[in-house]
Amino acid sequence: MRKLLSYLARCKGRMFAGFVLKIAGSVAELFLPLIMAHMIDDVVPTRSVLALSLWSAGMFLVAVIAWAGNVVANRFASKVARDTTERLRADLFSKTLGLSARQTDEATLPSLVSRLSTDTYNVHTMLGMVQRMGVRAPILLIGGVALTFTVDPVLALVLLVTVPFLALVSAFVAKKGVGLYTRLQESMDKMVRKVRDDHTGIRVIKALSKTDRESRSFAAVNDEIVRNETRASVITGVTNPVMTAVLNIGMTAVIFIGAYRVAADRVQVGDLLAFTSFFTVMLNAVIAVGRIFVEISRGSASARRIAAVLDLPPELLPEEGEPDESGAYIRFDGVTFSYRGAPALENISFSIKKGESLGIIGATGSGKSTLVSLLLRFYDPDCGAVYIGGKDVRSYGKEELSKKFGVVFQNDFLMAASVRENIDFERGLADEEVERAAEYARAEKFIAAHEGFGGMLTARGSNFSGGQKQRLLIARALAASPEILVLDDSSSALDYKTDALLRKTLFENLPDTTVVLIAQRISSVRFADHILVLDGGKMVGFGTDEELMRSCDEYRRIYRSQHGEGGEEDA
Ligand code: ADP
Ligand code: MG
Repeated sequence: MRKLLSYLARCKGRMFAGFVLKIAGSVAELFLPLIMAHMIDDVVPTRSVLALSLWSAGMFLVAVIAWAGNVVANRFASKVARDTTERLRADLFSKTLGLSARQTDEATLPSLVSRLSTDTYNVHTMLGMVQRMGVRAPILLIGGVALTFTVDPVLALVLLVTVPFLALVSAFVAKKGVGLYTRLQESMDKMVRKVRDDHTGIRVIKALSKTDRESRSFAAVNDEIVRNETRASVITGVTNPVMTAVLNIGMTAVIFIGAYRVAADRVQVGDLLAFTSFFTVMLNAVIAVGRIFVEISRGSASARRIAAVLDLPPELLPEEGEPDESGAYIRFDGVTFSYRGAPALENISFSIKKGESLGIIGATGSGKSTLVSLLLRFYDPDCGAVYIGGKDVRSYGKEELSKKFGVVFQNDFLMAASVRENIDFERGLADEEVERAAEYARAEKFIAAHEGFGGMLTARGSNFSGGQKQRLLIARALAASPEILVLDDSSSALDYKTDALLRKTLFENLPDTTVVLIAQRISSVRFADHILVLDGGKMVGFGTDEELMRSCDEYRRIYRSQHGEGGEEDA
């Protein structure tokens, strides 16, 4: 909430103007019943047409002021709500992109998505509502009560008795609502997660005929939303009827006692009419107050969820690190790292020189991608250090470090844009650079067959085959001539021949580039200068193919499992 106020502070002027107009409009509205009472009780009996016309004109004018003040103020309010939410959303988005990998893991992606979408929407609704009604309703309510006192104190007292009850109901809703709406938003997160998973896995879901099962499990998530929504709306939904009922009871009492007082000549008929007008105004105000409390509880639950992300401390800032004197280009020194709990990497130490190639091999889950994440400083190691070019990666600026790399991750993504744009990736590269990268990635042939570099990709590049997509991704990674090229399992969709040719061109054409190549197949890494064998997060071998064949059991085991049926896979 405090965070939200600091965002609103930027619209102070407009908000204040809207505030003043709101007050003017609302006060004008309160005077309408008084003018009416005066006309009925004092002007009509004089039978003067002129006086009546003048008073009517006056009443019309006040009505126009009430209307105009309200409308203009509402437009201001909408603009403030829109602008504030826009800034909030923009900041949240850039914060989301800037989160460290660990923070993203913890917040979870689906939750970040729903914070950006439904939560900012709730805040928007709240801001609009509070400005439109938050000033007006209390003025109408309190002003209405106050003015009824000037009309007839006894009747006003009767109406006043209802106020504590109304306050009690509002407080109850506000207290309960925040918790209920927080829970509702959490089940929204679940739904976003479900939809995301299903979209990512749509093919396999269809292939395995699991659409029914997925629909059922979606229905379960959907049910949960409905349950939480119901719980929240039952609480907030009873407020209006309860408040209206309380006020109605008060009004019945007013009419009942009022009738006696009119009969006893203590009150005039016009005053009683004014009372009923005030009553309508106040009733509407009470309904508005009820809605404001609903919106506030929903909106502040959302505001808290947004602030929780915005307030995350910046992580992985550059820090001082010991220099590395060993002369290696990439060096891991006693690196241990765990996501949560058990270490994903344990005591990894190795080094390679500039321009050399490193193959990493190991079963799935053995920590290959994790090792690369540490190299790119997506995470910091728990102990030990990672050095690039003699400097601890922690001492590099973010840009400085990422500029060194060209990377292709597992399941990397292609945009619905032209081939050229996908390779260039908004780095403003020259045509020759793009074309050369495509050539090195052995992509030029199928690009030519596919309408050339201007040819469009559909979403996720689904009009290209898996192997073609991998080569486009490799071309992208190569295009800016990086110092270090990281390919995480990006040859698995290539046939052996293309894979072998690709590696050959990479090694021949990029002598200065240090290549880190993660693969499942021994044939993909065996010509690397060094091969690192991982097993359950531990380094069980480091050396050339020849050395490892002699000394590393795990390497031999992988080799046998891949060449068992007579070595037909040799590239
Ligand atoms: P590989 O790339 O060799 O298949 P990974 O480096 O991806 O293996 O994973 C190593 C281990 O770390 C696995 O047990 C995996 O479950 C775990 N792991 C990977 N990424 C995360 C993450 N973001 N959060 C928690 N655990 C993770
Ligand atoms: Mg991996």
